[in-house]
Amino acid sequence: MTERAWDQDAGVVIRRITNYYTVRYHGEDYMCLPRARLKKEHVRIHVGDRVRLDELDEGNKTATVAEVVERFNLLPKPAIANVDQVVLVFAADQPPFNPLMLDRFLVLVAQSGIASAIALNKADLVSPQVRAEMLAPYRELGLPVVCTSAMAGDVQELVDLLENKVTVFAGPSGVGKSSLLNAIEPGLQLKEGEVSAKIQRGRHTTTFASLYAIRGPHGDCLVADTPGYSHLDFGTMEPKELGWYYPEMTPHIPDCRFPDCLHRGEPGCAVKERAHVPDTRMASYLRFLEELEANQARLASTSLKVEGKVKQSGETKLVKIDASARTASRRLDRQRLMDFDLAEEADLDEDLEADDLEETEE
Ligand code: GDP
Ligand code: ZN
Repeated sequence: MTERAWDQDAGVVIRRITNYYTVRYHGEDYMCLPRARLKKEHVRIHVGDRVRLDELDEGNKTATVAEVVERFNLLPKPAIANVDQVVLVFAADQPPFNPLMLDRFLVLVAQSGIASAIALNKADLVSPQVRAEMLAPYRELGLPVVCTSAMAGDVQELVDLLENKVTVFAGPSGVGKSSLLNAIEPGLQLKEGEVSAKIQRGRHTTTFASLYAIRGPHGDCLVADTPGYSHLDFGTMEPKELGWYYPEMTPHIPDCRFPDCLHRGEPGCAVKERAHVPDTRMASYLRFLEELEANQARLASTSLKVEGKVKQSGETKLVKIDASARTASRRLDRQRLMDFDLAEEADLDEDLEADDLEETEE
């Protein structure tokens, strides 16, 4: 992963409450309002944004957000900008290690274009040999992999991984995400299970993601307080795309005889002939492939039905096909893990966007 060199003089937005932003700047938190011009120009400010500050009051720890530095990515719902990595937290046991789910997360994170790392927690529950076997396929991929035990306070490797980065923790519940954060920074005092708790959002209580700032020896670690990825569906990905999210396969894919090869026994498949894909990884690949094919079939049958209806009703057909197809694909999109939050919140989120606009138009 490329290190991003930020302007040393930019702060990071770590929290938002209505129009107040908490900005971490040189290891201190400042309460900030955005400059009026930003509101007028409808410049959005998200948690994770790098911002330049003005009117800095060191005593009262207040400032004005003068400018937002161009962001390099934005995870939606809840929005977090400039995410450097997703650390996939899995337990070695209790719940049992689940390579299928880990592979699913890896594909989905890769799809969003963000780097993954793996933390195998509850390392105290299995022997070093068992851990090594579990992690071998992922070490081979060159992914950053660390073993931790939140219980034993063994978290140093993870801390090293987090330093100077914005990180989102993801993974099944019960694997120890909150425990890990507490072990890293006892001051956070998260309730166990808190990181994976559903974000409560009523109509009038808008919650935004926030970042925990953990002071490291060489800079802050910023960790999102959201589990993010909660929908583990691939959405509208095409079956032939899947192989591109398996780094063991990618160098060989261009050499397959058929451009739409699914690497499932087609003649002249270079992946089959030359790629070294561990058994568990191949099993997950084949399983996800079936799922993508089923999604596609479902989508195709939806659009066929729509077309049928439209033919009978005559005039408005183009518009109708359009709208229905869009709804179908939106529904799928909403299920995507990349959507980053709970589906039922999508509508609330649209309200939120509207509120935001009203706010800026005051
Ligand atoms: P989360 O849902 O991922 O946030 O998981 P929690 O942090 O709530 O932890 C779930 C359970 O696992 C709790 O009972 C923890 O005490 C336990 N736990 C967390 N980390 C470890 C660990 O490293 N080793 C062991 N043996 N148990 C752990
Ligand atoms: Zn192939």
